[in-house]
Amino acid sequence: MARDPRYDILFQPMRIGPVTAKNRFYQVPHCNGGGYRDPSAAAAMRGIKSEGGWGVIFTEQCELHHTSEITPFIELRLWDDADIPMLAKMADAMHEHGALAGIQLAYSGVNGPNLYTKEVPRAPTALPIRTFTNDPVQARAMDKQDIRDLRRWHRNAFRRAKQAGFDLVCLYGAHGFGIIQHFFSTATNQRTDEYGGSLENRSRLMRELVAEARDAVGDSCGITLRLSLDEMVGELGFSNAEVRDMIEMHGDLPDLWDLAHGAWEDCSGPSRFKEEGAQQSLVAGIKQLTSKPVVGVGRFTSPDVMVKQIKSGNLDFIGCARPSIADPYLPKKVEEGRIEDIRECIGCNICITGDMTMSISRCTQNPTFMEEWRKGWHPERIAPRGASESVLVVGAGPAGLEAALALGRRGYRVALAEAGTELGGRVARECRLPGLSAWGRVRDYRAYQLGKLANVETYFDSRLTADDILGFGFEHVAVATGAEWRRDGVARAHVVPMPIAAAMPIFTPDDLMDGRVPDGRVAIFDDDHYYMGGVLAELLAARGAKVTLVTPAAYVSDWTRNTLEQGAIHRRLAGMGVEIVLNRAVAAVGADHVETACVYTGEGRDLAADAVVLVTARVGRDTLMRDLAARRAEWADAGIKSVRLIGDAEAPGPIAWSTYAGHRYARELDAPDIGDALPFRREVATLSAN
Ligand code: ADP
Ligand code: SF4
Repeated sequence: MARDPRYDILFQPMRIGPVTAKNRFYQVPHCNGGGYRDPSAAAAMRGIKSEGGWGVIFTEQCELHHTSEITPFIELRLWDDADIPMLAKMADAMHEHGALAGIQLAYSGVNGPNLYTKEVPRAPTALPIRTFTNDPVQARAMDKQDIRDLRRWHRNAFRRAKQAGFDLVCLYGAHGFGIIQHFFSTATNQRTDEYGGSLENRSRLMRELVAEARDAVGDSCGITLRLSLDEMVGELGFSNAEVRDMIEMHGDLPDLWDLAHGAWEDCSGPSRFKEEGAQQSLVAGIKQLTSKPVVGVGRFTSPDVMVKQIKSGNLDFIGCARPSIADPYLPKKVEEGRIEDIRECIGCNICITGDMTMSISRCTQNPTFMEEWRKGWHPERIAPRGASESVLVVGAGPAGLEAALALGRRGYRVALAEAGTELGGRVARECRLPGLSAWGRVRDYRAYQLGKLANVETYFDSRLTADDILGFGFEHVAVATGAEWRRDGVARAHVVPMPIAAAMPIFTPDDLMDGRVPDGRVAIFDDDHYYMGGVLAELLAARGAKVTLVTPAAYVSDWTRNTLEQGAIHRRLAGMGVEIVLNRAVAAVGADHVETACVYTGEGRDLAADAVVLVTARVGRDTLMRDLAARRAEWADAGIKSVRLIGDAEAPGPIAWSTYAGHRYARELDAPDIGDALPFRREVATLSAN
């Protein structure tokens, strides 16, 4: 199919200084949890984006000098020539299908604790390091010699970046992570010399560094500035108005302005708190202050919204990080007139947790993310089926849906049996909770794609038993029957059931999702620590209940610090009048109260309650699997070669774990047994010769 002419504007070539991007699809820098530890995995991931049609592809943040690094977080490094080959591999992968290759260079200043290099951090003003981990480390103030050194280090980094093959060098000054922002902001720059005070002075370092870039690589590389649109720290720092003044003052300084909101939490807000295009009002009008192109972000997944951004004069390039992770082929799908095939980001921020936990990123929607090299998984291509022909998938939650889709694409004859009357399993239920409507995209994308496959049949109202399955004759059975929330309080604080008085009405998240909702004084015990406890507190408070959320953690929805939404959750709950009780476990549930205990001292305190909601752990629905396993002797006669438990039924986890499990099952079906071998490639450090 040809592309719709209304999207033509997205495919116009655009100049960025001395180089030209083939279209306006601009993959802004994003982390991936792999970085310098997994350089080939990161390079292959960027290469897939090149294949997918992006006009510009950036690396993640790259530390440009060893005196400023952000251990424990794993990004890229360009400390000396030894790092060039790794970065050259990435630039090559970006170039493979015609994208411009960009590198985001960062000197982390007051954001870099230097835990690895043990160097004393340097910043405009002597202050404690500002990062996620409250390290007991301070930076010293830079003197004039330090600034001269910094300019030289930048020049070296620009040259090395060019040598590695990059077309665009970006100076990172957004999200509180880069030194040009630290100089620009009065919150971190309290200097009294020519680098502090007036806006002109606070922009001096930025001007000098751009001049170094022009001098070193400006003839062949585009120079971009990535800046925060508003620092979001009130009067202490800079506002959107001051950013506009600065851009007006320096309109033609870089070859492109790359604008990103506030701190990372503000910029990459999850869909629970931020709509598509949420930065619109902060960006509007900035393009009129400069003759240089402007890129902005906003979790853009809709080509119509993208076109509007261009036509309304807001942006020249459409910046995407998460949308390019969920669907690296987004531009190609627009180009080929396949809009309905776009796998839209759901805004869950699971990808970001890979960085925050220094592991390797996953994506809920795209299970192949960061597995392009490790496992050879391509987001759009999959091997044809192996020796077998037929597969029964039991359960149409994220695991079952993804398994059925990937198996269907491989050409198996697939039956997808669902006990209920709708597709989606947990996402169909959870997307009806406050703020989680985008979760429905996990189902919607797969339901639509399954509809295109003649070899996949879906059956509703089909709660299958072992007898049913033994009678069908499918060669392989994937049991993706999901999980249920526990009613006995078992999770981390209680590893055996907690004492619960029979008279107290007990609810689980499943009850609430089924419409059985308590009112009056409701105590929520959150020993799960992800989003569910906070979401249910929100649901109940909105219905007028008097909600107290008790958690043994030091933060409400503790794990959501990794999805960058913990602060927003606390603010929302506090704003709705939810009482938040931290560092306390529910020790026991009485007939009209819960007994709480301080996790440090054990000090007890009763909390009067009319109902208790237990958000603790889930238990896999594995009865069907156990029934089938008990009748293993009958499998061969029934024509069954394998039965596998996958997804939440095997071990409950976030939705991304289920789509991954379903995808992996489909990829590995009929594959040769690898025995004890590692199921993925990895990079092992080469030992030094001396
Ligand atoms: P996952 O995240 O692992 O995909 P879900 O709980 O979202 O798990 O989905 C499991 C799905 O399996 C639910 O839609 C549920 O109705 C369905 N299911 C559970 N038991 C059976 C069964 N015996 N036969 C068919 N479907 C089942
Ligand atoms: Fe979007 Fe979630 Fe995938 Fe990140 S993990 S790209 S937020 S769907």
